[in-house]
This record gives sequence, C-alpha cells and structure tokens, in this order.
Amino acid sequence: MIIDFSKLIKEEERHINFKDQVEVKEISDKNENIIFVSPLEVVGEGYLEEDTLVLQGNAESKVELSCGRCLEKFIYPLEFSFEEKISVSDKSFFITSGKIDFSSILWENIILNLPLQAICSEECKGICPKCGKNLNIEKCYCEDEDIDPRLVLLKDLFDEE
Ligand SMILES: [Zn+2]
Ligand SMILES: [Zn+2]
Repeated sequence: MIIDFSKLIKEEERHINFKDQVEVKEISDKNENIIFVSPLEVVGEGYLEEDTLVLQGNAESKVELSCGRCLEKFIYPLEFSFEEKISVSDKSFFITSGKIDFSSILWENIILNLPLQAICSEECKGICPKCGKNLNIEKCYCEDEDIDPRLVLLKDLFDEE
C-alpha cells in the first residue's frame, strides 16, 4: 500500500486523507499462518508536526484463527487503530518521491493486534483432556467418572442451585 504525501511535503496541503483496501492473502505469525477472509480496509490521515510525519487511522478485516480451547477454525474480526511517527528530517527515503510504502507499518500493527490466545467464544467449552471430544459438539462423561459416588448426591444438590 503506497501513500502519496508529496503535497504535504510541498506544503500544498496540511492534511492528507487516505483510504484503501489491501488484499492480504495470509501472514505468518509465530508458527501459525493467518488467512485473511476479507481485504484489510484502511482509513487514515497524515499531517506534519514540525519534522515529524504523523500517520493515524483505523484498519479492519476478518481473519481465520484457530481457537485455543477447541482448536476449531473461526472468523475473528480484526480491528485496530494505529499511529506512526516518521521523522522527516532524515529525508532520505521518501522525500524525493513523497511516497511511503505503508505495508510494513501495517504488517507490524496486524501482528501486534492479533490476540495472544484466540478463543472462538467466551463460552467455548474446549476439548476434554481425557477423551479428546470437542465439548461444544458432544458431551462426554469423563469428569463424572472421577467423582466419588458418595459425592454424587452432594454434587446434584449443588447443581440444582
Ligand atoms: Zn473454541
Ligand atoms: Zn471426555
């Protein structure tokens, strides 16, 4: 994603608004490949603050993640705001053309904003560590077997509350 800031640099404009849809196929984060199921929508603005170019805005997309509890794939709505400050005093890389390749800034922000442990829902029951069943789909009785029969009565009593 290339943004043209030449007008800002030449002081023809005070603000540059930008809006773009970036096609991201997938990115690798640690050992997981994250699939983007919709384009990344980026809306933002840029302005100069003395020798600093300030870029800020929002981005959103939908990505496919694996649930940390049940391991099923689910669609996660990725949304984040960003703010980047680029020093313009070391004019080397963009002053000549006035263009910035925004992609690497976006990638960094995507990685930063992905959840450390994604779960498909707060209510996800996960996988039974004993029989491996996905407890969102099937019920298993592993846990019940562990309960001392003498306590079952007591447990029923609590369950009714
Ligand atoms: Zn889950
Ligand atoms: Zn089980």
